[in-house]
Amino acid sequence: MSTIEKFNEHVMPTYGRYDLVMDSGSGETATDENGKKYIDFGSGIGTNSLGYCNSEWADAVCEQVRKIQHTSNYYYTKVQADFAAKLTEVAGMEKVFFGNSGAEANECAIKIARKYSFDKYGKGRHNIITLVNSFHGRTITTLSATGQDVFHNYFFPFTEGFIFVKANDIDDLKAKLDDTVCAVMFEHIQGEGGVNALDKAFVDAIYELTAKKDVLTIADEVQTGIGRTGKFLAGDHFGHKPDIVTLAKGIAGGLPMGACLTGKKCADVLTSGTHGSTFGGNPVCCAGGLKVLEKAGDPAFLAEVAKKGEYFRTKLSEIPEVDGISGIGLMIGISLKSKDAKEVAKACLDNGLLVLTAKDKVRLLPPLTISYEEIDAGLKILADILK
Ligand SMILES: *Cc1c(COP(=O)(O)O)cnc(C)c1O
Repeated sequence: MSTIEKFNEHVMPTYGRYDLVMDSGSGETATDENGKKYIDFGSGIGTNSLGYCNSEWADAVCEQVRKIQHTSNYYYTKVQADFAAKLTEVAGMEKVFFGNSGAEANECAIKIARKYSFDKYGKGRHNIITLVNSFHGRTITTLSATGQDVFHNYFFPFTEGFIFVKANDIDDLKAKLDDTVCAVMFEHIQGEGGVNALDKAFVDAIYELTAKKDVLTIADEVQTGIGRTGKFLAGDHFGHKPDIVTLAKGIAGGLPMGACLTGKKCADVLTSGTHGSTFGGNPVCCAGGLKVLEKAGDPAFLAEVAKKGEYFRTKLSEIPEVDGISGIGLMIGISLKSKDAKEVAKACLDNGLLVLTAKDKVRLLPPLTISYEEIDAGLKILADILK
């Protein structure tokens, strides 16, 4: 029985998968079970931030797995302390809670926002504003928070308490930011929603309006964080510090981890017994995360990411079929004039290039460590397909 047959017989069919069995990877190149190679412009949805099996990262992870792979969160570990210290320093935040995914990081943020408000103002101020076309995760509550109706099916009843505001519509935000609201949660660049950056004026308005009412700001940086945009956080492009930041995807170089970070205001909202996670802050993931931060926390490395982003954008804009390019840094959305993004992604795969899609765009989230040679080689494949 082939891997694909075995897989389909035993794994729930929740994904539309390509007929491709991934076997191994090195640097920015993946290899399938038949030995066919693929340049990776997707990094496992922005997750393999240092590419495949980066040797320093792999050494750190293997060393940790041989030392201690897990202990309960009733004890301390040095590696979690080191990672938390470095992460909060680089992000300019105060404290962190570790989970295992983006959805969990957002769940934690939602709990903090509601408890902050409950502790200070009592009941009735639990609503959270999120944006139309947002994506915040797959748990029942983060689906509720997600501002897309397609996600609000089957699983009733959903968690109450989310109000949707149109992205970049300041009047809509003003109208809905009433005394029942404890937080506004947003992606600076909507990833799954189509790689759309928010307008600076709208982000300014979020901060201005929430500050007046002691309403918290939650930046979902699960996809945009950890250097993806050429700054450590996408929010750094907009010049504001949110009260809460959530991270996942690229945080540990491909190992499962989510983090919810707070500034001073919310640092002590969650107290003993109010939240937890068995695997959260796992030592192996923290060891991998430390290696990611050595790079993504370094301004010189981030400047390189920004430069590569510019290079991508210049090259892409020379392709006649490209109608527009969105996003920031190495988070790239490509609108096409006449071709279908999903068909283009499939053709890329057949020709040895991995790309993603988001709504009707081709989406690129290449490893932050990608070289110019690989960018050129990948873009040549893409340009040929777009001819
Ligand atoms: C991917 C994503 C999530 C969900 O992360 P998981 O690790 O799949 O739970 C949440 N928010 C944003 C912005 C994302 O891109």
